[in-house]
Amino acid sequence: MGAEGFYTGGFRDWHVHLELMRPEPSPVTRVLDLGSNVERLRGIADGLRGVTVSYAGAFITAPGGYPSDRSWAGAGSVIEVDGAAAAREAALSMREEGASVLKVAMNSIAGPAASSEVVRAVVAAAAGLPVVAHAEGPGEAQRARECGATMLAHTPFTERLDDAEIAAQAERVVWISTLDIHGWGTPDNEFGIAVDNLRRFHRAGGVVRYGTDMGNGPTVAGFNTREIAALAECGLSRAEILATLTPAAPAQGGPVVFVPGTPEWPYVAGAVLVDTAAH
Ligand SMILES: [Zn+2]
Repeated sequence: MGAEGFYTGGFRDWHVHLELMRPEPSPVTRVLDLGSNVERLRGIADGLRGVTVSYAGAFITAPGGYPSDRSWAGAGSVIEVDGAAAAREAALSMREEGASVLKVAMNSIAGPAASSEVVRAVVAAAAGLPVVAHAEGPGEAQRARECGATMLAHTPFTERLDDAEIAAQAERVVWISTLDIHGWGTPDNEFGIAVDNLRRFHRAGGVVRYGTDMGNGPTVAGFNTREIAALAECGLSRAEILATLTPAAPAQGGPVVFVPGTPEWPYVAGAVLVDTAAH
């Protein structure tokens, strides 16, 4: 390494589905699985070398709600709950299974969404774990925030959120980007809506995490540079993009910079050189 750059790596993808796709070796060495059968996921994680896996476990959803009807949602990857008591039980069971976040499905386009009562019960039972909402459909991102969800699995893409809602989201909700899912390189209408929302969310001080929804559609099995380009399109600086790739929880600080010759260096197989000479 010359004086012109630094190596970094150990990135985290905050939205993957390992039951659907295994990551290839890349600077992404930490992943958050947002919806899987825990037992199968553990088996998959054991077989992955050099990748640290954390997970939500099963989707918590309404009876018949998304994604219970999807072919890719295997047995045990969805818990359908009909009220607060069942929601609490589902949340507690995922906590016992070692979940580091909880996932609720609020997709009113694909069927019944988790009710506000259910989401509030999951939040109450989360005991400080982040509650990640898949919010899709008119008003669902707003409802997720009002019910106390602390992360959105996707940048809202159904509709343009008004500035007051953007400000309220920026204050308390972390957004996982997943911009590239809207066209996978051929940006569609929803890509434009999401970019517009994320640009204003970022400008309002909102916290963004890199996430790709790896496995759901023709996604990239590793580091998705199109996602990075989309974040740049939203106005994030290089340093801010690096921060979205942080391996740590939002409260635990920034990205990792590795220097050759230091004790951790030999372990950074997937490190990438950030060239600072070009700009
Ligand atoms: Zn997903």
